[in-house]
Amino acid sequence: MRYFYDSHCHMMNLSHPNLSAIIKRIYNDSIKPLLLKYSVYLKVALLVLLFVIPVVVITLLLTGHFEVIKWILYAVSLIAVILFVFVVVKFGDKKKREIEISKIKSTLLDKVKEKLANVMNLLAAMETDIGDCLIQMEEELRKKIPLNNVLAISGNGEKKEYDKIVLTPLIMDFGLKDSGKTNLIYKVRWKPIVAQVEDLCTGIRDYYLYRDKYITGHAEPLFQIIPFMGINTQNYYSEKDNTTGKSISVSLVQLLDKNFSEFKYDTSPQMRRKKIDAVNWRQFNGDIESIGSYYFLGIKVYPPLGFDPWPEDVVEREKVCYLYQYCIDYNIPITAHCSPGGFLVKKDYKDFSSPYRWEKVLDYHDENGEKPFRKLRLNLAHFGGVDGVDWGKKIADMILEGDPENGQYKYENLYTDISYQGVDKQSYVELSGFINKYDAEQRARLIERIIFGSDFMINLQDISSYSSYLQYFFDTDVFTLEEKDMLCNKNAERFLFVG
Ligand SMILES: [Zn+2]
Repeated sequence: MRYFYDSHCHMMNLSHPNLSAIIKRIYNDSIKPLLLKYSVYLKVALLVLLFVIPVVVITLLLTGHFEVIKWILYAVSLIAVILFVFVVVKFGDKKKREIEISKIKSTLLDKVKEKLANVMNLLAAMETDIGDCLIQMEEELRKKIPLNNVLAISGNGEKKEYDKIVLTPLIMDFGLKDSGKTNLIYKVRWKPIVAQVEDLCTGIRDYYLYRDKYITGHAEPLFQIIPFMGINTQNYYSEKDNTTGKSISVSLVQLLDKNFSEFKYDTSPQMRRKKIDAVNWRQFNGDIESIGSYYFLGIKVYPPLGFDPWPEDVVEREKVCYLYQYCIDYNIPITAHCSPGGFLVKKDYKDFSSPYRWEKVLDYHDENGEKPFRKLRLNLAHFGGVDGVDWGKKIADMILEGDPENGQYKYENLYTDISYQGVDKQSYVELSGFINKYDAEQRARLIERIIFGSDFMINLQDISSYSSYLQYFFDTDVFTLEEKDMLCNKNAERFLFVG
């Protein structure tokens, strides 16, 4: 069986996310840039009218340059007359006027409408039941992309086939102990993750249980769904352990043990794949207390919501160290949001997402000179983002960094993904342009470390459907078929530790 991996997507319903953060994000990503674009023209016009002109005229008056003022007045009057004639010619005819006005209106309105349509689409995907959303994703894919039992990508007269699409919905821990500064009377103060986990698990079950009612002629489900648990260590309380004197978060230990303890015995990715395949989601009884290892594949951390990868506070530091050590010992992949954007609930949290912050984790050495977290299985998502920061370059540098001690690459389990970026076809051209700047060996290493991801359903802000996102990836010719196969299959399997 060959799998196509979408290693970065989300499935949530409207009660899960921090809605105020979503609205803020939609405003910041979509509406603010539009407003800003036009407010620049307005600002320039006001500046000229209220400041530049009066200052020039007053200066000329005070210095007695009446002659210059006279000529300026002539010039201004002439421009006004020309402008008047232009307006009369261009808009004098009612029909012409209507055409011109509707042109201006429609370019503006089309943009607003397109944004609104995307936002409505996103809200609908969130509002419907998670199980139904998954069924609709499969329906839409089958309608748009010819799936003759298998998904195929072709290139250079050859093709790669995939029997199933693996989705790894990443849960985000929206539980906020600190809701940040807001002037609102009521705040989002806490939001336990349990309800989200329960709804996601029920949704996955319902996808498998009810897809036959909507999708006929294809008995085998297209998707295999293996979620990532969302963890924000800041939301777990610590107690002092009297025997060791160290503080320990019992609830964090319990959560990890409950969902991942069996991973310890997986000596190979094939073994883990077997155990994961053996999970029968159809039998999930709705109670998350009943689930154990292999329902979740990895862990998602989301710094914009307050998770700090390397906190200064001693108690907080102990919690993240416990998490990282656990992930290394049990071979658990961690995906970390790594772009300056996202659901940023507090400005200070922006730096938490930075690859520089993660470098401190990976490079940490204890008093004996041991570097316990070097081998962390880590995906710095979104390739650092496209918001004009150097994070993408930093991630590439980290991936390519050599270890002077052994001549190998320094961080052997470091990856990045391209989720969300593919809403724009052009992003693949930019990505290949970026990695083509490196020499052949470095380029080959980078290509081995990039994972395909969609960021569905969040990506619906900028694209109309799941199939369109996949289609852009299938169609791009900046990568060879073999390279695409690495992004969506080989690299993902290596990162996820599933063979
Ligand atoms: Zn995401």
